[in-house]
Amino acid sequence: MLRSLRAQLSLSILLILLVMVTLISAASNWFINREFEEYMIRQENDRSVSIVNDLGHQYNDLTGGWSRDFLHTIGMYSLYDGYILKIYGARGTLLWDAENHDMSLCGQIMGEISDRMKDAKKSGAFVTRTYPISRNGKQAGSVSITYYGPYFFTENDYRFIKTLNGILLAVGLLSAAFAVATGTLLARRIARPISKTAYIATQISQGNYGIRFESTPNTRELQEMVTAINHLAEALSEQESLRKRLTSDVAHELRTPLSAVSSHLEAMIEGIWEATPERLQSCQEEIKRLASLVADLQRLADIEDGSLKLVKTRVDLHEIALTAVRNLESEGMKKRIALSACGSPAYADADRERIIQVVMNLLSNALRYTPPNGRVEVETFETESESILRVKDTGIGIPEEELPYIFERFYRTDKSRNRKTGGTGIGLTIAKSIVESHGGKITVESTVGEGSRFTVLLPKQR
Ligand code: ADP
Repeated sequence: MLRSLRAQLSLSILLILLVMVTLISAASNWFINREFEEYMIRQENDRSVSIVNDLGHQYNDLTGGWSRDFLHTIGMYSLYDGYILKIYGARGTLLWDAENHDMSLCGQIMGEISDRMKDAKKSGAFVTRTYPISRNGKQAGSVSITYYGPYFFTENDYRFIKTLNGILLAVGLLSAAFAVATGTLLARRIARPISKTAYIATQISQGNYGIRFESTPNTRELQEMVTAINHLAEALSEQESLRKRLTSDVAHELRTPLSAVSSHLEAMIEGIWEATPERLQSCQEEIKRLASLVADLQRLADIEDGSLKLVKTRVDLHEIALTAVRNLESEGMKKRIALSACGSPAYADADRERIIQVVMNLLSNALRYTPPNGRVEVETFETESESILRVKDTGIGIPEEELPYIFERFYRTDKSRNRKTGGTGIGLTIAKSIVESHGGKITVESTVGEGSRFTVLLPKQR
C-alpha cells in the first residue's frame, strides 16, 4: 500500500519524538524516585539515631533515674512522626510504651502510613529495631522502635512526590503535544513542494508548459528541485515554440515557390502563356531552390542529431580561408567586391570539409549582403587557447535587435524576405551547428550601414 510522504514523515518524526519524550520522562522519573527513596532511608536511620540520643539525654547517671516527662514528650513526638517507641530501663523494666499509652492513636497512625504507602505503590512492612541507650559510656537502657521500613512517606513527603510526578507527566504530555505539532509541520513543509513539483511535472507532460513553481522553499535541495523543474518547463516551452515556428516557417518557405511554379505551369497548360524556354527555366530555378532548401534542411538535421561523424584532422584555418577566397573570387569580381584573406596560420583539430562549408557560408553571406565596391576580408590568427577565423564585410549590417536571432533557422533580417538574395535562412544555423559540434563558438558584431564581423572560435590544436 502506498502511503503519502507527508504521512510517512509525520509518523516517523512523531514516533521518534514520542519515544524520546517517553524515555526521558521515564528515566528522570525513575532517577528522581530512586534518589528520593535513598534519601528517605537515610532520613529514617538518622531519625532512629536522633531518638536514641535524645532518650540518652533524659538519663541522670548520678541518680540512675529518668526524667519520665521528657520520655513521654519524646515518645509522643516520635509517635506523631510514625515511630512507635518502647523504652526500657537498664534492667529491662518498661519505662514508656506508646501502645500502652494510646493504643488507638498508634493503630490510627500505623493505618495511615500503610494506606499511604499502598497508595504510592511502595512495598514494605512494619519492622522493629532495638537500640541500646547509653550515657557517658554506660548502658542506661534500651529502646525498640517500630516503623514502616525500609522507608515511609510522611504526609508532606507524599504530597511532594505526587506533585513531582504530576509535573513530570505534564512535561511529558506537553513535549509529546509539541512533538506532534512540530512533526506535522515539518513533514508538511517538506512534502508540499514535492507534491507540487509532481503536479507541475504532470502538467508539463500534458503540454502545459506555461506552468511555474512560484514560491521558493528555503531548503537547499528543495530549492534546487524547484529551479530544475522551472528550467525544464522553460526549456520545453522554448522547444515547443521553436518546433511550431519551424513547421510554419517550412510551410511558408515551400508554399511561395510551389504556388509560383504551379501557377506558371497552369497558365502554360491552359495556353494562356506560351511555354518559352525562359519561363520553363524560371520554373526550374524555383524547383532548384526548393531542392537546395530541402538539402540544407537535411544537412542541418544530420549535423544536429549527431549522425554525421566528424572526420577530424589537423587543419589550418588560414589555408582554408585562402581556398574559400579563391573559390569565390569570380563571384566577388562579378559584384565588384574586393575579396581577400590575411592573417597567420591558425591550427585546429577539425573536419576540414565542414569548416570549409562554414567559411563558404560566411563568405557568401558577406558577398550577398555587401553592395558593389565594398570589401570582404577573412582574417585568421591564434590566441593562447583558440584558433580564430574572422569574416569582415563593409555590407548593409544587421540591426542590433535582430542580432540574437540570425543564427536561428529561417531567420532573415530582410523583412520582405526578398528572394533576390537567394537565401533560405539556414546558412548561419548550419554554420553554428558545425562550429558547436567542434566544441567552438561563433559570434557576430554588426553596425547597420557599416558592415558585419562574424568570428569563429575553435579550440586550438596542441
Ligand atoms: P540566408 O540564406 O538568408 O543568408 P543565413 O542563415 O545565412 O540565411 O543568414 C540569416 C540572415 O542573417 C540573413 O538573411 C541576413 O538577413 C543576415 N545576414 C547574414 N550574414 C549577413 C551579413 N554578412 N551582412 C548582413 N546580414 C547578414
